[in-house]
Amino acid sequence: MVEKITAYRFERLDETLSQLNREDCAIIAGGTDVMVLHKSRRGVPPKIPKPIVFINHLSELKQVYQHHKDLHIGACCTYSELLENPLIPFALKNAIKTIAAPAIRNRGTLGGNICNASPAGDMLPLLYVYNAKLLLRSVNGNRMVTISDFIQGPRRVQRFHNEIVTEIILPSVLEDSHVVFEKVGNRNADSIAKVSFAGSIRISKDRIDDIRFAFGAVGPTIVRSVDIEKKLVGKTIPLDGADIAAIGSAFDKIIRPIDDQRSTAAYRKTVALHLLRYFLSMKQYQPN
Ligand SMILES: Cc1cc2nc3c(=O)[nH]c(=O)nc-3n(C[C@H](O)[C@H](O)[C@H](O)COP(=O)(O)OP(=O)(O)OC[C@H]3O[C@@H](n4cnc5c(N)ncnc54)[C@H](O)[C@@H]3O)c2cc1C
Repeated sequence: MVEKITAYRFERLDETLSQLNREDCAIIAGGTDVMVLHKSRRGVPPKIPKPIVFINHLSELKQVYQHHKDLHIGACCTYSELLENPLIPFALKNAIKTIAAPAIRNRGTLGGNICNASPAGDMLPLLYVYNAKLLLRSVNGNRMVTISDFIQGPRRVQRFHNEIVTEIILPSVLEDSHVVFEKVGNRNADSIAKVSFAGSIRISKDRIDDIRFAFGAVGPTIVRSVDIEKKLVGKTIPLDGADIAAIGSAFDKIIRPIDDQRSTAAYRKTVALHLLRYFLSMKQYQPN
C-alpha cells in the first residue's frame, strides 16, 4: 500500500513560515536534490521522513533586484530564470551553464544548491568569491549570515527548522574584476564536478588591488583563504614564478580532497593546483 504523506503549498511566504514554526518540515524548492536523496527503488515513490512544504512558487522568493551596490537574488530563482536575467553577472551565468542539462536547470534553484551544501555544488565557489550573504526569514524576523558561516559541511547548514533562505546577496558583483569559473568533470555537460575553481582579480596600474580564489570538491566545504590571497595584494602583473609557487604551496597544505566514486584525492589536488597556477600565470586580465 502507498504511504500517505502530508504536503503543504501555501500562497504566501508568511503562511509558509507560520507552518514551519508549528512543525518541522522538509522544504522542497525544485526538488532536484531532495528527490535524489530520498529515492526508493524503481517505481516506488521517494520516502521523505517529514511533512513537506513547497516553496518554489512563492513570488517573494523569486525577485532579482539591485539595491545600492548589492545584487539581491531570490532563493527560488531557477537556473533558467537566472540565465535570462540581465542583472546576473556574466561569470555566474557561465557557472550556471555548466550545471546539469536544461530539464534540471528549469527546476533547480540557487537557494537549493546552497542549502544542499554539497562540496561539489557548482554555484558555491563563485558565491564564496563574491562574499555572498544569505538572508534567512522566520516568524521571529530576519537574519543575515555569510555563506562561509552558513555552510558547515556536506549537507550541514546553520539553519533553524523554522527558517527559509529568502535571498542571496552579492555585496559587490566585482564589476572591475576579471572573474572566472572552471569546472572539471567527466564531460562538458551533465556531470558533477571532480574539481572546481573560481577566481577574481582586480588590477590597477599593473598592481593587484584585490584577488580571491575558491576551490570546490576538494574538501568538506569550499576552500578559500583570505590570508593567502592577501600575500598577492600590491604585487605587479605578470606575477613572477616564485610568487606563483609560494601561493601554490600554501594551498597545497590546506587542500585535502578525498577519493570517491567520481575521482581520486591525488587527481583532485593536482588539477586544483594547476587551475590556480594557470589563473595566476595569465599575462592579461580583462574586467568582465
Ligand atoms: C540529474 C541531476 C544533475 C545535477 N547536476 C548538477 C550539477 O551539474 N551541478 C550542481 O551543482 N548540482 C547538480 N545537481 C544538483 C541540484 O540540481 C542542484 O543542487 C540544485 O541547485 C538544487 O536546487 P533545488 O531547488 O532542486 O533544491 P531542493 O532539492 O528542492 O532542495 C535541496 C536542499 O535545500 C533545502 N532548501 C532548498 N531551498 C531552500 C530555501 N530557500 N531555504 C531553506 N532550505 C532550502 C531543501 O530542504 C533541501 O535540503 C544535479 C541534480 C540532478 C538530479
